[in-house]
Amino acid sequence: MKKIYDLLIIGGGPAGLSAGVYAGRAKLKTIILEKGTGGGQAATTSEIANYPGIRHISGPRLVEEMKLQNEDFGVEFAKADVTGVDFSGEVKVVKTLGGDYHARAVIIATGASPRTLGFPGEEEFTGRGVAYCSTCDGEFFEGLEVFVIGAGYAAAEEAIFLTRFATKVTIIARESSFSCAPSIVDKVMANDKIEVKFNTEILGVHGDGMIQSARFINNVTKEEFEYKAKEEDNTFGVFVFIGYEPKTEIFKGHIEMDDAGYILTDDDMKTNVNGVYAAGDLRPKSLRQIITAVSDGAIAATDAGKYIEEEKDRLGIKDEPEVEKPAKKNRPLSQQARALY
Ligand SMILES: Cc1cc2nc3c(=O)[nH]c(=O)nc-3n(C[C@H](O)[C@H](O)[C@H](O)COP(=O)(O)OP(=O)(O)OC[C@H]3O[C@@H](n4cnc5c(N)ncnc54)[C@H](O)[C@@H]3O)c2cc1C
Repeated sequence: MKKIYDLLIIGGGPAGLSAGVYAGRAKLKTIILEKGTGGGQAATTSEIANYPGIRHISGPRLVEEMKLQNEDFGVEFAKADVTGVDFSGEVKVVKTLGGDYHARAVIIATGASPRTLGFPGEEEFTGRGVAYCSTCDGEFFEGLEVFVIGAGYAAAEEAIFLTRFATKVTIIARESSFSCAPSIVDKVMANDKIEVKFNTEILGVHGDGMIQSARFINNVTKEEFEYKAKEEDNTFGVFVFIGYEPKTEIFKGHIEMDDAGYILTDDDMKTNVNGVYAAGDLRPKSLRQIITAVSDGAIAATDAGKYIEEEKDRLGIKDEPEVEKPAKKNRPLSQQARALY
């Protein structure tokens, strides 16, 4: 007989892990499917300094604590890459290479990621000068120069925000003008700390440990130039703001999305399909952070709990008492996460 979970969560980043805590605590039979090592984008950053109540913590440690909290509440984990779904029936089917999973409700929490440009050094120096989020990393560039790559709304807004920390912000715009509202362009142009180089592209970044130089090209004159870190600074920042990519491809045709592929929900994180929720960075929103992702996850799991209870009442389903699994209370952190704290 197939096992039917109350709740299945796709994605073990902050949104999925927060949903797991709320679902587990509400005694829902819950499983989280995660294709990678877990923790999502948050696990890729060495320092988080903006999660209220925790002054400094590494990303891996924060998400490991969230995972242990899930285990404390009896939530199951499986390493599985979700390749397809069937949400048409009252029992939802989630397909993976290792077989199908079944659940009464599903929370999609597969996240989004900042688009990358692919210039030489971009991957190597990510977290060591190359950044994608000024709210997360802006303060690390206090007193340094930064370059902002992009000419859309995000690039313009973030460039202004970065002037709070940086001594100078140079916007590198591939086109000959900005592609955002004139009101924000006017603010950029009026800011003494911002210089704009139109028709310019980044060719690569170089350095020893941190970024020490970057090469650029004017795509009209084909003239190349190099920027070197000032001696007293020894480094500078390159912030790339060319948009986000939601990880929602496999849900196309199953769930309502906007043109950019973000999953549409109401305030309770309900999608247009009964019993299917979406939480975290894959929703249209103005702030993609851990705190907004965990908030979504908590709301989604709470509403899913009500939906599951109503469904079971409607179908006259009485849960068999499960063989009591010992909760892994107070399991210690892994050595890896402890070392990163
Ligand atoms: C370098 C960096 C630094 C950051 N720093 C901060 C910071 O300091 N403070 C802050 O608040 N925010 C920070 N953020 C933003 C924050 O990490 C994200 O907003 C948050 O992680 C979003 O959580 P999420 O759960 O919605 O998505 P994600 O974190 O993207 O997690 C999604 C998870 O779903 C999994 N998944 C995707 N597809 C599938 C599939 N088909 N099957 C199974 N699993 C799947 C992924 O492997 C991933 O683990 C940072 C982001 C980055 C990239």
